[in-house]
Amino acid sequence: MKTQLDRAREGEITREMREAAEYDDVSPEFIREGIAKGHIVINGNPQRKSRVVGIGKGLRTKINASIGTSPDIINIDMEVEKAQVAEKYGADTLMELSTGGDLDKIRRTVLDAVDLTVGNVPLYQAAMETIHKKGSVVHMDANFLFDTIEKQAEDGIGFMAIHCGINLITLERLRKQGYRFGGLVSRGGSFLTAWMNHNKKENPLYEQIDRLIDIMKKYDVILSLGNGLRAGAVHDSTDRAQIQELIINSEIAEYAQKKGVQIIVEGPGHIPIDEIEANVIIQKRLSNDAPFYMLGPITTDVAPGYDHISAAIGAALSSRYGADFICYVTPPEHLALPTPDDVREGVMAAKVAVHVGDMVKLKDKVKNQDLKMGIARRDLDWKTQYETAITSDRAQQIRNSRPPLEDDTCTMCGSVCSLKGVREYYEDDLKDSRKKSVLTAL
Ligand code: SF4
Repeated sequence: MKTQLDRAREGEITREMREAAEYDDVSPEFIREGIAKGHIVINGNPQRKSRVVGIGKGLRTKINASIGTSPDIINIDMEVEKAQVAEKYGADTLMELSTGGDLDKIRRTVLDAVDLTVGNVPLYQAAMETIHKKGSVVHMDANFLFDTIEKQAEDGIGFMAIHCGINLITLERLRKQGYRFGGLVSRGGSFLTAWMNHNKKENPLYEQIDRLIDIMKKYDVILSLGNGLRAGAVHDSTDRAQIQELIINSEIAEYAQKKGVQIIVEGPGHIPIDEIEANVIIQKRLSNDAPFYMLGPITTDVAPGYDHISAAIGAALSSRYGADFICYVTPPEHLALPTPDDVREGVMAAKVAVHVGDMVKLKDKVKNQDLKMGIARRDLDWKTQYETAITSDRAQQIRNSRPPLEDDTCTMCGSVCSLKGVREYYEDDLKDSRKKSVLTAL
């Protein structure tokens, strides 16, 4: 089958490209050209109709919300609610990452419940079913893994995080550097590391890369090259094992793109803020500007319960330096499975973060929204403030819960509202000035 990448290279503008262009308010040709160069990806899997968004260079940073059961908490209704909450509050994509219960049923139920493009990690199902049948992931059969990937592609999964870059060379780097302060935290990375160490064999997802590429191409699934050796502690960030995996993922990215498969490269993880820019530059340089998917990143290890804030700081900086796609983090990260309320908080934190980053990355296209808000605040124009806010529901709910005595103010300063106290002195100055008229131009 011709993929969106094949068709973009031939100069065709597809329905999906038009939809992605509309979503980001760019021209369809901009999307086509970005896809053709491997700088932008869009969901092209025809097995399921979903909302198509572009991820990549020159576009708004997109937010992924991950949901899914664990072996300890299996509640399909809650997972559906989480998926719908993520969609309602503005996630651009969803990842269904269940590891507990009937995984086919959960995946298909979630796919039916939302319009978002849905991604996943197919290895989870292959690993969990192997553990249930054979007692350990080390007994996983490579054919079963590839069959599972194809089954999920048939269901309409739009992008798959697949850990091809953990191979024997990567593991050698890990061993030579003396393992890690924070161990391995990627579930996919840990499954494959155990499998390779036990079986003394190469990772089948690396060794049989053409088999994987054939499946991705057949269904036009975006191959998101997983960061299985991402740091799970800031003191492990940007270490030799992580960079080794990135080098291998970048080689695979180039190879797969040549074959017509759309590619994302994934990144860490836990990173202190002074290493974020370097991570983005290295990834972009090594992968020829392939879309970069940052998992968080979490910027300190000592804020459990508030990791959505730690990650929002990382996401803002990642986006500012050029990352294209951010995985949200919820408050119970490192502590428990998220609830629907946690999903909402995670999405909102990520939305604020990528807006902050995009103000620098995309300049006025995003920053004009802040200009509009500044003017609406100056003018005590609450309607425009609510319309302009990316957090409108919360803003209205808070102000309405504590109504002011004077309608045009709020209870923060009430009758001594600073804005109200001085504006009468400047009415004349604003009359014909740019500072007054600019609002209508936005
Ligand atoms: S009362 Fe204070 S916080 Fe509220 S709008 Fe006026 S200046 Fe702003």
